[in-house]
Formats: sequence, C-alpha cells, structure tokens
Amino acid sequence: MKKIIVAIDGYSSCGKSTIARQLAAYAGYRYIDTGAMYRAVALFALRHGLSADAGIIAALPLVHIDFAPQPDGIQHTLLNGQDVEKDIRTLDVGNRASQVSQIREVRQFLVEQQQAMGRDKGIVMDGRDIGTVVFPEAELKLFLTASPEVRAERRYRELLEKNGAETLSYEEVLHDVNDRDYRDTHRAESPLRQAEDAVVVDNSQLSRDGQFALVCDIFNQRTAQP
Ligand code: C5P
Repeated sequence: MKKIIVAIDGYSSCGKSTIARQLAAYAGYRYIDTGAMYRAVALFALRHGLSADAGIIAALPLVHIDFAPQPDGIQHTLLNGQDVEKDIRTLDVGNRASQVSQIREVRQFLVEQQQAMGRDKGIVMDGRDIGTVVFPEAELKLFLTASPEVRAERRYRELLEKNGAETLSYEEVLHDVNDRDYRDTHRAESPLRQAEDAVVVDNSQLSRDGQFALVCDIFNQRTAQP
C-alpha cells in the first residue's frame, strides 16, 4: 500500500485531533497537531511578556518545538525541551494562539517545519491550512465540521471534566467558539477554508466510532489507488 499525506482541516473543537490520532494509529503514520505548534508560540509569547508582533517575530529563532511520544500513544508538545502539553491547552493560550497565528512570519516559521515533517509522507497532520497551504498536494484531504452549538457543548463538557465547577458557562464557551471561527476564517493570512478537493465530514450527528469507520474507508480507498 502506498504511503500518503493526510491533511485534516476544520473549525476549532471539531474533534480533528481525535480522528487524526485514531487514523495515524490505524495507518501506522506519524501524527502532527499543528495547533499545538501555534499554541506553543503563544505560550512562549505569554511567558516572555511579548505582546507586540515585532517582539514575537524577533524571538522566533528562540522557539524550538518538538513532539515526544508517550507510552499511551499520545504525543506531548515540548517547548525548548520542556513538556508544555498541559499549559498549552488552556482557553487563554488558545485565544492567544488564534492571535499569533495571524502573523505572517509566525506562519512561515511553522509551515516550513511542518512541510519538512511531511517530506517522507506517512503522516497525518491537522490544522487550519494543511490541505490549502502546507500540503496542497496531499493525497487525502478531510475537512471536518460540526455546528457551533455541538462543538461548544463538547468543549464545555471537556472543560467541566478538567476544571470542575470553576469553569466557564456554556454560553461563554459558545461565544468563544464563534469568536474563534470568525478570526480563523477572516484573517488575512491563510484563512481557514475548505480545499476544493477535500472530503467534507460533518460529525454533528456522528459517533466517534462512526466517524472513525467512515474515515478509515476513505483512507483505504485512497491508499489502494495506484
Ligand atoms: O487547533 P487548535 O485550537 O489547537 O489551534 C489553536 C489556534 O491556532 C487556532 O485557533 C488557529 O487560529 C491556529 N491554527 C492555525 N493554523 C493551524 C493550526 C492552528 O492558524 N494549522
């Protein structure tokens, strides 16, 4: 079976990383979460008090991002050698990531690294611009969607599990989801859009297993093609 590049794009909180991780494990491919890379840059900026774009751009050579596989199969994000997997998953860092991802130089810096990771194929990468900018030639492109309400509900439940009662309300999470969608689709640099040749998967009504089975079918068809 031939080795391919799988590009997964879609809105925030759509379950991209879940399906990307599942598919990578199924195919024996490497999984790269590009959102984690933007989050790591955002965390670096927050920790060093860098708020202006110029300061962030100047500091980019000091930002080294790696992924360390864990025994349970989950990869942890390393920022300059330090495991920051937990620190990058907060709402605050997510919002900051959405802002730093609008800076052209930040995108160039990360896209170059992402393209290098895909040189040997056998990779599943998820983000917002993978099928359009990072790997426009990817053999399989998926575009994940779900309604904002469904995504906010999932996100809210996740936060509740993590933070207990001290969490945001559902309305605040929905507001955040809508805000982020707007920023991701309206920014000047590589806005989120569906590649023309992407397969759209709306998972509003799909179970995790249902979605996995569907995506495996699509993957098997693509890799069977000469
Ligand atoms: O996917 P995740 O929510 O972790 O991404 C964090 C932020 O990074 C997103 O809001 C998005 O603005 C940005 N991002 C991006 N391009 C990517 C991946 C993420 O602009 N390829």
